[in-house]
Amino acid sequence: MTEKPKFIVDFMCGRLARWLRILGYDAEFFNETSRSKILMESLKTQRIILTRDTQLSKKKAYKIILITSDKIRQQVKQVIKDLNLKLNPKEFFSICSICNKKVNKVIDKSEIKDLVPIYIYENINEFYRCPGCNRIYWQGSHYDFFLKEIEKIFSK
Ligand SMILES: [Zn+2]
Repeated sequence: MTEKPKFIVDFMCGRLARWLRILGYDAEFFNETSRSKILMESLKTQRIILTRDTQLSKKKAYKIILITSDKIRQQVKQVIKDLNLKLNPKEFFSICSICNKKVNKVIDKSEIKDLVPIYIYENINEFYRCPGCNRIYWQGSHYDFFLKEIEKIFSK
């Protein structure tokens, strides 16, 4: 697989969708329970289904991964291992964790002055904004926290 995989995540794996977005993956959240709809969506958009539903995992789709754990860290680990994903920290936080849209670099940081805490504004130079919800992202403490979490997942 050369192209970066895209995901469609079922309603039982919502947290997993958010983690994948933070890792830089397009992970659409599918909050309907209809099995046929999620299968169709997977085929249509060539997204890999991530599900906890054993029945669903036996069906035909673009690709399906049955998530075996109910623990978020194990879930993330499973997806990365099963697909042999190569994580690139440069891509972390490149997708809005709330609405799954690619964030855009803020060209003129004065535009977002009123939207972030003042000490952040003064100490950080690169900001990104989600075109969907306008949330502002930067490589701050949450970024370091997340890198540590990822390290923890793989040190076990
Ligand atoms: Zn957003």
